[in-house]
Amino acid sequence: MEILLLGTGSADGWPNPFCRCVSCRSATEVRGQTAALVDDVLLLDCGPEAPRAAARFGRSLASVRHILFTHGHWDHVGPAAMLMRHWTRTGEPLDVVGPPSALDQCRDWVGPEDPVRFIEVSPGDDLRVGDYRVRVLAAAHGSDIGADAVLYDLESVGGRIFWATDTGPLPDATHTAVAGAGFDAVFLEQTFGMHTGHGTEHHDLPAFAATVDELRRSGAVVAATELVAVHLSHHNPPEPELTAALADSGARPGRDGEIVGAEPTRSLILGGARSGKSAHAEALLAGQAAVTYLATGGVREGDPEWAERVRLHRSRRPASWRTVETSDVAEALLTAETPVLLDCLGTWLTARMDLHNVWDGGLLDGVHDDIDKLVAAWRSCPVRAVAVSNEAGSGVVPSTPAGRLFRDLLGVLNARIAAESDEVVLMVAGRPLKLPAQ
Ligand SMILES: [Zn+2]
Ligand SMILES: [Zn+2]
Repeated sequence: MEILLLGTGSADGWPNPFCRCVSCRSATEVRGQTAALVDDVLLLDCGPEAPRAAARFGRSLASVRHILFTHGHWDHVGPAAMLMRHWTRTGEPLDVVGPPSALDQCRDWVGPEDPVRFIEVSPGDDLRVGDYRVRVLAAAHGSDIGADAVLYDLESVGGRIFWATDTGPLPDATHTAVAGAGFDAVFLEQTFGMHTGHGTEHHDLPAFAATVDELRRSGAVVAATELVAVHLSHHNPPEPELTAALADSGARPGRDGEIVGAEPTRSLILGGARSGKSAHAEALLAGQAAVTYLATGGVREGDPEWAERVRLHRSRRPASWRTVETSDVAEALLTAETPVLLDCLGTWLTARMDLHNVWDGGLLDGVHDDIDKLVAAWRSCPVRAVAVSNEAGSGVVPSTPAGRLFRDLLGVLNARIAAESDEVVLMVAGRPLKLPAQ
């Protein structure tokens, strides 16, 4: 299941465009109203900003066949989307699912010939829409709309997620319904940060932590669950503090445009010396509670400068990261149980070339076998994986045959790993440059 977060902000977004508070002024991310696009065919909420957000993130909504509304507040229901769709004269069917007061807002925006099916739901319903099983759960929200608000437990062959916005601390019936679910991802609202005097229609940070605790106790959230805070507002502290506070719960703030996949993703970070590639790779995994760091650099006896570099790298990594010194990286990738950082492919290749004695004219077959094995393991790695490699091809031509051989083999290795990666980033002067897919 692929979930594209179209928005991760509250009704007014974060920053609130009219506000000058510290939280708004320091915001480096712009967050719009919370909504998500699942597998390009299902929308979870669709407020007024959602369709345009999809376009900005390079997606078409032409394949959407199902919209699930949580409730009728204006930031979640932008019925004009129905009219936009009508104008393309699509003959494709659309299911519009939600509590009655959300659906009622949409009916006038649908033409008489539009193949739209309205499906009213209430907590406890369990239905199929397309390839998805939808369990409808009670929310604690919307007293102004007769508490006509629900949350969704959404499951397909690709995974199972919990869409939990808007709501205060979850009703007991909802905790009971999701017990043991072992979700792949949970999107739980956290609107109010450290402001706790807002009533109980939303979560603040302490309430968020308490809800996550309870979800863990019941087995709804397990170690592998991605926990993403959404519906964020300027009542939250600036992003670094918010990130730290959420990390205590094993969660992180969602970002507009972010893709959360039940499938583990593979990232390759390329760059020259001192380009910032290791720091960027580490930042990609900063939200993970436990990471296995595969150190392929080995030890260089009598080289204090190298030792200092290794020490610096190590001191930057959180204490919860486990370092494994190995050159059998293929095996480590295949058996990994926590997200993996492999730093870096260049030193791994050097070690394999040493092992097969190729510097003195030994045969290359062994190295090619090792590369094949590494690429296969990278493809099959069961967890989130980030690899760092040197972009060595653009400097001067190495003066020795051994140097040229290394450069050429690394180029081949980088291209093959890139072909099996979900994203490839080139670091230049500390800035990440996302490379287009082929
Ligand atoms: Zn809302
Ligand atoms: Zn609401």
